[in-house]
Amino acid sequence: MRNEGLGSWPVRRARKTPHRTALTHEGRTTTYAALHSRVLRLAHALRARGVRRGDRVAHLGPNHPAFLETFFATGALGAVFVPLNTRLTAPELAYQLTDAGARTLIHSPAHTTVVAELRQAGHVDLCVDVGAAYEELIGRSVEDPLDEAVGADDVCLLMYTSGTTGRPKGAMLTHANLTWNAVNVLVDADLTADTVALVSAPLFHAAALGMLTLPVLLKGGHCVLVASFDPAEALGIVEQHGVSAMFGVPTMYERLTREPRWRAADLSSLRILMCGGAPVPEPLIEAYAQRGLAFQQGYGMTEAAPGVLYLDAEHAERKAGSAGVPHFFTDVRVVRPDLGPAATGETGEILVRGPHVMAGYWQLPDETAASFADGWFRTGDAARVDPDGFVTIADRLKDVIISGGENIYPAEVESALLAHPDVVECAVIGVPDVRWGEVPRAVVVPRDGAAPAPDDVRGFLSGRLAKYKIPKSVVCVRELPRTASGKLHKPSLRRDHGGDASGTHS
Ligand code: ATP
Ligand code: MG
Repeated sequence: MRNEGLGSWPVRRARKTPHRTALTHEGRTTTYAALHSRVLRLAHALRARGVRRGDRVAHLGPNHPAFLETFFATGALGAVFVPLNTRLTAPELAYQLTDAGARTLIHSPAHTTVVAELRQAGHVDLCVDVGAAYEELIGRSVEDPLDEAVGADDVCLLMYTSGTTGRPKGAMLTHANLTWNAVNVLVDADLTADTVALVSAPLFHAAALGMLTLPVLLKGGHCVLVASFDPAEALGIVEQHGVSAMFGVPTMYERLTREPRWRAADLSSLRILMCGGAPVPEPLIEAYAQRGLAFQQGYGMTEAAPGVLYLDAEHAERKAGSAGVPHFFTDVRVVRPDLGPAATGETGEILVRGPHVMAGYWQLPDETAASFADGWFRTGDAARVDPDGFVTIADRLKDVIISGGENIYPAEVESALLAHPDVVECAVIGVPDVRWGEVPRAVVVPRDGAAPAPDDVRGFLSGRLAKYKIPKSVVCVRELPRTASGKLHKPSLRRDHGGDASGTHS
């Protein structure tokens, strides 16, 4: 019987390039032939323990071959893979496991204690520790061909959104969604069979999985999996393996530049620096340009599996700051609040349509209905299109500050602030103001504790930004709250620093 899904990728790859390296993790390599054999054995073992088509199988752990093996094995069975965020607390994990109805959990040894609690509380039945237990499961299994029929429109991945704006929602992604996304990426990014990819952003988020790992594996390239992002280690791996492609959110790229080894590091193998998930500040673009490196910016979201816009190598420099044009099989529109088309250059909400857009949110029919208009997915992001068709993402509509009737996009102010020599990181939020309704406030992480005076910050920005965009108050903090994917968590910033402007260092 035919398997049209991702679960068939390892066997198809093993037919073409059995001896090439698919994965490296902590110095151990896995060829495509070995990947196929392990996935097949794992699939049989899971089936023998009761996993059936449509069942949800969860994974909890950092980047590791077991993540991908479990994903392909569940796909081979027509089951649904549910990657869990390693930063979640025990109650949050219990919520997601219960919400997903996942009774099987593959987990890293580091999570043994929390998993024991979850199991005792009845949230999950079968738990397999990625260590001896997992290896035994695979070792004792069989390699008979699998006979599951899996269709392209079957759901294969239940991936929770990052939870940047509220409680994470489970996006139901089908085999077709992920395949079309991988095709889109391969059309736009020059990933080849010789690509060596550094996968250090978490695989449980859509970007590292969809923009890099799956397209590279489809093409027969090599993924170096790293459990967590450490800038010094990342530079070492680039040199050691001759890494040619990587994906990161802007903060990861920023941390690389602050690493003492940054200047001396040999980055000559790097060709594709994918950056997305959040706006890329201009000072960062400049820092990399000085090393002869240009970002290939991408814009996307979990619900789109995830790629929507891409700025390819050809335009990376000329259109720096833009997130590019839609992928080949993707359509976008920018609309006004009444859903009528926005004019060129006018900022509105960006909508997406394409074969990679999710089937819906898991068990959230109202949210699903509210997220689509005439078959178009409503992203909730503000964007504008230039006369050449290149799209610039302004910010999330939810984060827009409205001050005296003017819209302020915090990302623009943050980008300008980052050029200040004493500012390492920053975030801009709106705080209530009697006269203007809302005014911007900057929350800043100063360099080496050298807190810049608020007047100095405002003076620095005047001339760079219109007056109404300049933060009325400045608060210094040691670090900014971020989600597991490295995004600013604005709800907690607003909670901690969002009081009215009086009484702060303004
Ligand atoms: P939640 O939906 O749970 O609030 P989230 O939207 O952060 O969380 P993801 O699906 O991981 O979850 O992220 C998608 C969002 O990330 C986009 O909707 C957009 O707001 C932001 N984003 C992605 N790429 C870019 C980019 N290049 N520039 C600006 N913002 C981006
Ligand atoms: Mg979202």
